[in-house]
Formats: sequence, structure tokens, C-alpha cells
Amino acid sequence: MFEHFFSLTLSEFVSLIKNKLGKREFYSHAIYSAIYKKGNITIEDMPEFVKVKQLRNSFLEFLPQELLEISQIQESNGLTKFITVTEDQLEIESVVIPMSHYNTLCISSQIGCKMGCTFCETGKMGLIRSLEVFEIITQVYLAIFQLKFDIKNIVFMGMGEPFDNFDNVIQAVKILTEPKGFSFSKSNITISTVGRIDGIKKLAKLNWPRLNLAISLNAPNNLIRSEIMPINRTTPLEELQKVLMEYPLRKSGIILIEYVLIKDVNDSDKNVEELVEFLLPLRARLNLIAYNPGTDTVYKRPSEEEMFLFYKKLADKNVFLCRRKSRGTESMAACGQLGNLKLREALSGK
Ligand code: SF4
Repeated sequence: MFEHFFSLTLSEFVSLIKNKLGKREFYSHAIYSAIYKKGNITIEDMPEFVKVKQLRNSFLEFLPQELLEISQIQESNGLTKFITVTEDQLEIESVVIPMSHYNTLCISSQIGCKMGCTFCETGKMGLIRSLEVFEIITQVYLAIFQLKFDIKNIVFMGMGEPFDNFDNVIQAVKILTEPKGFSFSKSNITISTVGRIDGIKKLAKLNWPRLNLAISLNAPNNLIRSEIMPINRTTPLEELQKVLMEYPLRKSGIILIEYVLIKDVNDSDKNVEELVEFLLPLRARLNLIAYNPGTDTVYKRPSEEEMFLFYKKLADKNVFLCRRKSRGTESMAACGQLGNLKLREALSGK
């Protein structure tokens, strides 16, 4: 059995066809483009096969016989969330987020997550399993060709910790950036991690400076971070900061630091000072996000005024930061927010 078509780079697809059919590269390239650029999964009406109609049939067994299906589409506040059902009847969540001039697609790399961040609904699910490459790529394919969205940015900020599924996420990035395929620029792809430093080091070794790295920080000191993000118990902030300082950025590149502001947890004046200190040696932009309460949560969302004050204190200390204004974008700006039931409710209009 060979790999699913959506798990293959162009050169891997070319090799597969060469081994199995002995055909020239010409047809493999044409098919790859027809599928990823036009959504022509059945490769019907391809001009390349007009004079060799039988030849088309020989390729079909190497293409997806049927796509995973979208079971639900929910729209609210301009966001479109869709759920794709896997062959083992699990649900993959993805969200299309409209920005001012384009759309961003937030995709999942796992179903559930084992990281156990206490403020996160996905974390409460535990890890069910990691996604296969074709399941990651299918989310993009469906958003573009079934839901007809013009997608410019891809963010791995959905369910799961991308570096817990490192190889499949990296293979997906290679497929997404294939010039004869989707041809996304690496600068339009962001991987958001809880701060697995082994994953950050492995990513650094790939030497992809255009790819964006985001860190879900959410706490300015070890005490708070270890409390709300268990990974900090084994990887304290000093180690994370060091690996980020060494991360090879492009000339104008920055690391995106996500900070979910939780009332009375990480929002004190002392926390501002600590956050400034953490950010000081980094080329980074802070993305401030108001916490969205989930179910059974002990945490509270800060008021608009409290958000503004925290923002202002950081801005006064010359921290490079932004605060997403719209509810949707705000909700989606940190990993794990996809599993947030509040968001689910908002999306389903409850
Ligand atoms: S915040 Fe991210 S890493 Fe933490 S449990 Fe949620 S999905 Fe996993």
C-alpha cells in the first residue's frame, strides 16, 4: 500500500508514479497541479489526457478515491468553523478567520492535546491521536475547494501541539509550499507551540527562516507558568528564552509571543515587569489576547478596561505588541482556543 496522495510532495509523487507506472514526469506534474491548483481530484478534462484517455485511468488508483467529509459548518462573527470527520469517526476542527484583506485558515495538528494547559478546553480532552499528513492537508483542500475560501495564511493554532506531531507537520508544510501545488509562501505559515524546545531546535535546524514561529507563553514567571502550563515544570522560562534567543530569524523576522490575559492570574503590575524582562533580549512581538472562559473554569476574563490598562503598561515600556480587536481573531490567536467551548457556542449561535 502506498501513501495517500495528500501525504506526498511532488518529488515523492513523481517517484511513486515512476516506480509503479514508469510514466514520464510530465503527467505527474500536470496531475499534481490540477489537484492542488484547481481542485480537480478526479483529473477529469485534463488537456494532457485528451489524446491518451486510457492513460488517465491508470493514474486514478494513486489519487484519493474519496475525500474526508465535512460534517458541520458553523458561522458566527465572520468566522467559519468546519468539522471534518476522519475514517475512524473522529472530528478535526478548523476555522477560517477573515482578516482585513484576506483569510487565515487555522488548522489542527492533533485531535485533543496531551499538554494539559489548565485554561484550555482542548487540553481537557487529553490526546486522542495525532493527525496523519493527509488529514492536515485535507483541511486546507476542503477550505479552498469545497468551501471556496481564498486562503492566504495558514496557522497551526488549532487543536494540538504541533511539535508533538513534528514529522507530519513538517511534511505538511513541505506540501503546502510546493510551487506546483498550493504554493503557499513559508512567510504565510505559522507554527504555534507551547514551547517544546526540542521541537524549536529541530525547526531551527531546517533553516526555514521565512516560516513563522509563535510561542504560547501566557505567563511571565515560572510559578504561574508551571501552574497553568505543565510543560514549564520541565522546561522553565529561562530555557525557553535561551532557545528563542538562538533561534535563526530572517533579517526582518520576529517571534510571535502569545499571551492570554487571565484576570487575577497573570495580569498584575509585577507581571508586566516580568514580561518585559522576558521579552527584552528577544526579537519578538507580543500578541495580547483576552481569556475566553470555557466550561468548569476557575479563571475569569479580564474586562475591556483591564485589557487596555495591561496593554498600555506594556506599550509604555516600549514592548512591541498588538491586541486583536475582533472577537474571532482574538479567540483564535493562541493554540488551544479552537477547543474552547465558548467559541463553539459563539460559532453555533447559542
Ligand atoms: S493551549 Fe495548546 S498546548 Fe496547551 S493544552 Fe491547549 S492545545 Fe495543547
